[in-house]
Amino acid sequence: MFGKMMHQSLLISNLIEHAAKYHADTSIISREVNGQITTSNWLQVQQNCKRLANAFTTFDLEAGDRLATIAWNNHRHLETWYAVSGSGYVCHTINPRLFPEQLIFIINDAQDKAIFFDSTFLPLILAIQGKVPTVERFICLSSRDDKIVEALPDVLFYDELIQHQSTEFNWPQFSEETPSSLCYTSGTTGNPKGVLYSHRSTLLHTMATCFPDSLSLSANDIVMPVVPMFHVNAWSVPYATAMVGSTIVLPGPNLDGDSLVDLIDNYKVTIALGVPTIWQGLLVAAKKRGTTLDSMTRNVVGGAACPPSIIRDFKNNYNCDTIHAWGMSETSPLGTANQPKAKHAALSEEEFEKLRLTQGRPPFGVELRIVDGSSTTALPNDGHTQGNLQIRGPWIVDHYFNQEKSALTADGWFDTGDIATIDADGYMTICDRAKDLIKSGGEWISSVELENIAVGHPEVRMAAAIAARHPKWDERPILIAVKQENSAVTEDEIRSYFKDKIASWQIPDAVIFVDALPVNGTGKIVKAELRTQFGDVLINSKTVESV
Ligand code: AMP
Repeated sequence: MFGKMMHQSLLISNLIEHAAKYHADTSIISREVNGQITTSNWLQVQQNCKRLANAFTTFDLEAGDRLATIAWNNHRHLETWYAVSGSGYVCHTINPRLFPEQLIFIINDAQDKAIFFDSTFLPLILAIQGKVPTVERFICLSSRDDKIVEALPDVLFYDELIQHQSTEFNWPQFSEETPSSLCYTSGTTGNPKGVLYSHRSTLLHTMATCFPDSLSLSANDIVMPVVPMFHVNAWSVPYATAMVGSTIVLPGPNLDGDSLVDLIDNYKVTIALGVPTIWQGLLVAAKKRGTTLDSMTRNVVGGAACPPSIIRDFKNNYNCDTIHAWGMSETSPLGTANQPKAKHAALSEEEFEKLRLTQGRPPFGVELRIVDGSSTTALPNDGHTQGNLQIRGPWIVDHYFNQEKSALTADGWFDTGDIATIDADGYMTICDRAKDLIKSGGEWISSVELENIAVGHPEVRMAAAIAARHPKWDERPILIAVKQENSAVTEDEIRSYFKDKIASWQIPDAVIFVDALPVNGTGKIVKAELRTQFGDVLINSKTVESV
């Protein structure tokens, strides 16, 4: 049969070309490490990408080489991303909050040839520089700074590197299966593992992120990714904003509530994305300052379960819809997003709120199933059967970087390590990380459910429920909580607050107040650390007789 359609590889360079051609004057707002705010636009970003791509031709690189970044969300970092992947190299985004030993491990595992870094991270660079033999160049993402030269004599400066380069550059054309970027999982146990995204997986994932039933992004939006560019590619926002031609507001290093409220109000941000701890801080700041965050129509929360109180607060007090989304490094990350269907207009307010609390349903492209342990038979999607959550699709990991062994089950699914339910419409609810579930006397208790209730108490700012060892029940839940400022709430008051909200045997045996919870580089609470610190409190306490 005659006839066929054009073939064009799905390449990341197409995104920046599209943005420069059709959204040239759309603003890119960026807070720099010195606190200054700069404004450029998609055309200027594209021109700087091309300048940097020309500078790479003097670097003696081979296609597929890894070039790393240790940087905040700012415009130079954005330009570096596009220049690296567009030129056929792999952009390895490094989480600066890792320990130096972990940083050294991943840089050596990736065999990075260069590291682009924000000046904030100079001490890190100095700590690792002698231990990363493959790195030939360190490039500071700034203009020349003599103090940095004193500490790191061979350093290059981004602004100088691109200054005299041409803005003419023809992006190389290659297979869309070519690797484009690399991101290591947090690695709470064992060494971090690298997920190697391709141009194709990135573009397909980006399209799905923009869908109306995902984040519904368009050229009308002003998007602020609070989620860092080193956390699963900032959930694709730097790509998605170029794809649809929206303004991007890059918040730099200051992720506290006050700084974010300033950016939202000054630049009329319509949608912002971050983990729950970010929103908790932002809501406190917004309340204190009396702003109504008028421009925000929606916010996206993912990375950890979103407490219902956050969704309610945004809706009732700021008229802002919270989109609860779920994903992981291995899933690019979008696996599900919570958007209602037409039929849900008929739901009662209470039923609708219940639906909005779930992690949502998969966009076209990914498929979910739940199974029992290592079985390959899918459990029913009835909204209450719990099972191990598995996923497959064109933007899901197949093999980790440098690992010969497949990351998939024998029948081709990726096991997420999460325990979930799925209902008949595909709405998925995360019950827990398999390793965070609390097993009391043979019965499972969801730590997420306990935390959601706890942070609904007006005097609790943050909470983590963990398993504490118990002589009779093996494990019992305890709650580690941070009070709101000046609160005098007591342990008994918090425990009573759980009554009638869950079965009495699920109520935490103890509530321990702390000043702050340990959070990792991506803003998630590190439960493993809490388990080490508090896991024996019930054994050590004399009043362990419970339930
Ligand atoms: P990471 O790869 O570091 O982004 O971590 C992925 C893990 O974060 C997932 O496997 C989940 O356990 C957790 N996670 C992400 N989004 C959510 C969410 N919306 N609700 C509950 N847990 C989540």
